[in-house]
Parts: sequence; structure tokens; C-alpha cells
Amino acid sequence: MPQPFIPKPAPEEIQAFGPIRFIPGKKGGRYPYCHSLAIDGEETWMVDPAGDKDQLRRLARRRRVTGVFISHFHEDHQKYNHLFPEARFYVPAAETEAFRSVTAALDLMGLEDPRAREYWGDIMVRQFNFRPLENLVPYEPGQRFRQGGITLEIVPAPGHTPGHSCFYFPGQELLFLADVDLTPFGPWYGDKTSSLEDFEATLERLADFQARTYITAHEQGVFTQEEFQTALPAYRQAIAAREDRLLELLKKPKTVKQLADRHFFYGKPKEPPFIYHHIETQMLGKHLERLLRRGRVSLKDGLYLSQK
Ligand SMILES: [Zn+2]
Repeated sequence: MPQPFIPKPAPEEIQAFGPIRFIPGKKGGRYPYCHSLAIDGEETWMVDPAGDKDQLRRLARRRRVTGVFISHFHEDHQKYNHLFPEARFYVPAAETEAFRSVTAALDLMGLEDPRAREYWGDIMVRQFNFRPLENLVPYEPGQRFRQGGITLEIVPAPGHTPGHSCFYFPGQELLFLADVDLTPFGPWYGDKTSSLEDFEATLERLADFQARTYITAHEQGVFTQEEFQTALPAYRQAIAAREDRLLELLKKPKTVKQLADRHFFYGKPKEPPFIYHHIETQMLGKHLERLLRRGRVSLKDGLYLSQK
């Protein structure tokens, strides 16, 4: 068992790491917000602009923001894109379409029910200011971008979403982890196109990633190297703990719906219920499929049962 990790609250003030500024998201960086970065070189770049509208608006007024780097297509990482109308938007090549249309984003989520699609599409536009982005620059794993002596390297980190990426700044030895968010909740793989296996492989690779500072998009936000080395194994352990809990529950046969109705991952009902039911079902499905493949559970008439 890895050591337990006790998280700290997110910083309340902007923190500078050389030319990189950490801009804390509202609500301690919890959904529907995330922490953002501003990078000042000859030009200014932004990372995941969904933290704090007032701060970002002030920055947009004072600086010439020419680039916005987005880690993945989720709505809570691009809520304030519209504050930077002159910027180019750098997005994962694997998810480009989801930045051009709501339909493509809903497809990656795997939402199928027409009413759910209409409802969530509307939320994306009205609450998250989704607009199709035109000045897109798709980025690829390993690609490096430079300006004013600053380098940003794309570190692929699939699993949460297919194109989910971290950003490494070698000059500052700073790694932006995006939604490898090291929260007590643990890894999130609730879209149809999320992958539990890819997420695990990403965590294994990142465990050896040497940096001085690690920054997540949610909750604690800023981690020293020492904190990262405790937080990452604890975060990884959440997957095994979920599996154990699932096998325990399945000593009596249950359907996926019965498990989702118990709010297996979130522990309590969340709004809107059909979105959270979708997430629970997707995450359960990925565990159950794997347990079935490994012979740890059986499936008969829609009922899953733990095997000895
Ligand atoms: Zn996300």
C-alpha cells in the first residue's frame, strides 16, 4: 500500500515560477473551474483558461495573448476561451473536431440519448461559452513550441480523454498535469472514449517524470517534487481500491444499473442525474469489462458476480 497523501487547499493568490504564473481557479479549482497558467515571454500564452474570469479578463486587457494551449476537450478547461479572440488555439490533434463542434464533443463523451445530448449541448454553450474555434493549431505528442526563451513540450497523457496532454516547461522544470489531477477522488475515466488502461499506463510513465514543480488543473494545484512522489502513487491506488470494492459488492449479483444507482464512484447523487448516471455507467463498464476478461467476475443475464 502506498503512503496516504493528505492534500492541501489550492493557493488563493497568483504564484509565479519565473515567467509562468499559476492563476488559481474559483472554488479551489473544483469543477466547473480549473487552475490556469499564464506564460509571459515576448508574447503571452495561456493554458486552460477556465480559472477565474476577472483575473483572465484583466490579463487579456494588459497583455497580447497570442496562444492558448488546451489540455483536452472538456468544457471546464476552456470556459473563457472567448476572452482571447486574437489567439491561436493549440489543441490535441486527436480531439480537434471536438473544438469545432458540440456534436463531436458529445460523441467523444458517448452521450447517446437525444434529450441528454440536447440538454448537455445547451449547457456547454450557455454555461461554458462553447463556440466553435476556427484558429486551431492541432498539436502532437512530443511537439515543442517556443517563444521568448520559453519552451513548452507536449507530453501525451491519454486515458482521461484520448488526446489528454500534459505540458512540460524544461526551462522552469515545471510540469502541468492537467486532469491527472492527484485529487482524493482518483482518476476519472467517465467518457465513452476514456480508457482505464491508457490512464494506468500514463500514471506509470508520469511516476518517473522528473520536475521541480508539478501543477494540476484541479484542487491542490501546486505540488513540490516530494509531494508529487507521495500523491501520485496514492492517486493510482484509487483504481485498485475501486476494483476491490466492486468485487466485494459483487459477492451478490448485480447489474450495471444497480451499481450506478448506488453512486459507486461519487458516493451520492449529483446534478444533473442523467449525466452522472452516464459517467458512473462508463467507469463501471471499464472495470467490469476488465474483471470479466481476467475471470474475476462472471456475467449472466445482465448480472455480474464475483468469482472465487
Ligand atoms: Zn477533464
